[in-house]
Amino acid sequence: MRFNRSPDLIARCFDAYDVQAAVNFARESGAKLSVKGGGHSYAANSVGDGGLLIDLSQMNAISVDSEARTVTVEGGVTCADMDAVTQVHGLATPTPTVSSVGVIGAALGGGGGYLSRRYGLMIDNVISAEVVTADGQRLRAASDENADLFWALRGGGGNFGVVTSLELRLHEVGPQVLSGQIIYPFDRAGELLRFFRDFMAEAPDEFQCYPFCFRVPPIDLFPEETHGQPVLDFVVYHQDPQAVDFVQHDFVQPLREWGEPILEEASLSRYVNAQTGFDANMPKGQRYISKAHDLKGLSDGAIDTMVEFVPRMVGPLTAAYFDPLGGAVGRVDPSATPYAGRKTAFGFHCIAGWMDPAEDESVMAWASEFHSAMAAHASGGVYVNLIADDETARIPAAYGDNYARLVELKQQWDPTNLFSSNYNIPPN
Ligand SMILES: Cc1cc2nc3c(=O)[nH]c(=O)nc-3n(C[C@H](O)[C@H](O)[C@H](O)COP(=O)(O)OP(=O)(O)OC[C@H]3O[C@@H](n4cnc5c(N)ncnc54)[C@H](O)[C@@H]3O)c2cc1C
Repeated sequence: MRFNRSPDLIARCFDAYDVQAAVNFARESGAKLSVKGGGHSYAANSVGDGGLLIDLSQMNAISVDSEARTVTVEGGVTCADMDAVTQVHGLATPTPTVSSVGVIGAALGGGGGYLSRRYGLMIDNVISAEVVTADGQRLRAASDENADLFWALRGGGGNFGVVTSLELRLHEVGPQVLSGQIIYPFDRAGELLRFFRDFMAEAPDEFQCYPFCFRVPPIDLFPEETHGQPVLDFVVYHQDPQAVDFVQHDFVQPLREWGEPILEEASLSRYVNAQTGFDANMPKGQRYISKAHDLKGLSDGAIDTMVEFVPRMVGPLTAAYFDPLGGAVGRVDPSATPYAGRKTAFGFHCIAGWMDPAEDESVMAWASEFHSAMAAHASGGVYVNLIADDETARIPAAYGDNYARLVELKQQWDPTNLFSSNYNIPPN
């Protein structure tokens, strides 16, 4: 673990009244406050050193209205918890691709995953929120109630209050989807990624594909001669199980025709299993740093930078990928929510991961160099939830033209910056 912090006091809350009491205590005592949902903040914002930690992990209630197609979750619910319950009804809402991420923690910054090109980000599916604000009020925020607060919560992170429960729109998904991967040696990555760019431009919104670069781990799944080698893994996903012939025999076929894949497995899978596909790649308790950009497009320059840096990749858990956005994400007006990157067609994300503190310097230096080189092909924006602990100066850029309105609303809802252990938007 790269962060080792000890709050003075932990309030393990069981309901919104506990949260209200804890917020009041922090405000009145002047204790520094942090709020933990699923605990996956890349910048370690969920746990402060000293002060009061509001731990929401015991707030696990989930209720589905299958007729109205909505789900309401409390602050400690993870994506895996929610998917398991909504899938009983054949329903789901977009969530991140690692199932232990907190639903509300992700949704407060944006929240994207396999379903996002089809159904938007999590914030595009939020119907209402129950919030404890800095002055200790318990409020509902929705398009017809505290509408400004509702706008700010859908991207503005934990800056505006503690969200005790969130109501989200559901869609018909699963129980089966198509998912898998086609893994190639990295030698022809430049050509393959250029091909992928054109392929993705024609892909329907139901299809998602992350070109994921990593070093083959020394496990039996992979031929021994590939262990330690860099690879390009097309992680493929199609929401429609009826498309099995379409996908297996036609649609993904072009991605298969680039020589002999090291590994190929693309088949029908339960939605809940597809949702856990990345979990094992990022084991808990290790050392990570996240480096990301919104890209101008998947330019030759961005591809060449990936091709240059991946073979020099350090850290046994390190990976880098391009994130195709567009679809429903891009059809929302950039001012409709604080999330400013609506016109971004591709994101870039490098997660450097390692175990040994002795490697801190070398891994982080490589990640920073990679990130700086990729900046030449980036728009200047970034998805706020991917900002690292050493990059807080990028927060205004993440919100772009929406930042000024967020500052105004922060002045209104949290003038003393009680909620500051987050991607902070200071009130002045
Ligand atoms: C392994 C991994 C994979 C990821 N994959 C994706 C992905 O596929 N797509 C994507 O969009 N993002 C992804 N993320 C980023 C993720 O969305 C954010 O890190 C998110 O903020 C995590 O939420 P959490 O509740 O798990 O984390 P926490 O660390 O508990 O919370 C994150 C922040 O939100 C605040 N917060 C949490 N809950 C509340 C609440 N109820 N009220 C007020 N504030 C709150 C916390 O104070 C903190 O500032 C990933 C992160 C990790 C570590």
